[in-house]
Amino acid sequence: MFESQKKPDFSYEFFPPRRPGAKVKLERTQEKLAALKPKFFSVTFGAGGSTRELTLETVVATTAATGVETAPHISCIGFPLERIRAVLRDYQASGITRVVALRGDLPSGTTGVGELRHANELVEFIRKETGSLFYIEVAAYPEFHPQSNTAADDLRNFKRKVEAGADSAITQYFYNPDAYFRFVDSALNSGINIPIIPGIMPIINYTELMRFSDMCGAEIPRWIVGRLRDFGDDRASIRAFGIDVTTELCRRLLDQGVPGLHFYTMNQYEASEAIWHNLGMGDRETGIDGGNSVDG
Ligand code: FAD
Repeated sequence: MFESQKKPDFSYEFFPPRRPGAKVKLERTQEKLAALKPKFFSVTFGAGGSTRELTLETVVATTAATGVETAPHISCIGFPLERIRAVLRDYQASGITRVVALRGDLPSGTTGVGELRHANELVEFIRKETGSLFYIEVAAYPEFHPQSNTAADDLRNFKRKVEAGADSAITQYFYNPDAYFRFVDSALNSGINIPIIPGIMPIINYTELMRFSDMCGAEIPRWIVGRLRDFGDDRASIRAFGIDVTTELCRRLLDQGVPGLHFYTMNQYEASEAIWHNLGMGDRETGIDGGNSVDG
């Protein structure tokens, strides 16, 4: 399925912190994850414009502090074209050359979708405005985007983003690797040739996981929900189980030669770091990790 046998690229996603305490915590997280020599970091962009200045601020601070290339996300829904152009200009002026381009979601009760209604239009706009300056990542959905009528529609819409000039894709998170493998096969069969990097959400918190998954349409297998529910308030057990399950998922993906793994960190390093060690990535880096397993 995957042709390249090169070492997989790891990348880590953060959201911009709003309070000073959260900022300090994120700095610690980034320092820890930078030590794993990731390919890049990325920073989300709030739908409806809530954090667009904070995104750039966080990206610039992260690159300066860690030396790791850091990609801002950019979303288009609800923004006038002029505003998107200004954000791109700011990114360009800050020396940024990688972006994650998304449609975004309108906060409930908001009206006015803006001029660009879908991510393929945003990618097209970025290419028109800035040529090949940016390496553009887009989103992909192995379990299909919740608003798409059919899986085939969603795949066609994914292809539009690729044809508009996307270089690579990061998937919504999933816990069933077969959904991802089948999605990649369908993409290849429909002529999509860009890398499709699995998005990985380490399981840290039961309530949050259920809330996010409800919103984004990611399926949590029944057996995982049952086990998590049984743990109740026992956070240590949830964490150990979550690291175990997510490590196994990553192992299956890496065994099939995926080009990389992108972690939704929720601004926490512990689970992502433990998974990296469990996968033996330390051995590959230095040859001295001795295969020690970190299981929580
Ligand atoms: P699109 O590709 O536009 O797809 C959205 C829906 O419209 C799909 O159902 C698709 O099938 C359909 N569609 C697409 N193009 C067309 C077309 N031309 N005509 C008709 N239908 C079409 N959200 C944020 O607000 N900020 C972030 O920083 C952020 N980061 C993310 C990072 C990743 C890796 C992922 C996977 C998601 C992220 N999201 C973020 C969430 C994302 O904005 C939502 O999932 C959103 O609902 C869809 O965005 P998209 O870019 O996939 O949209």
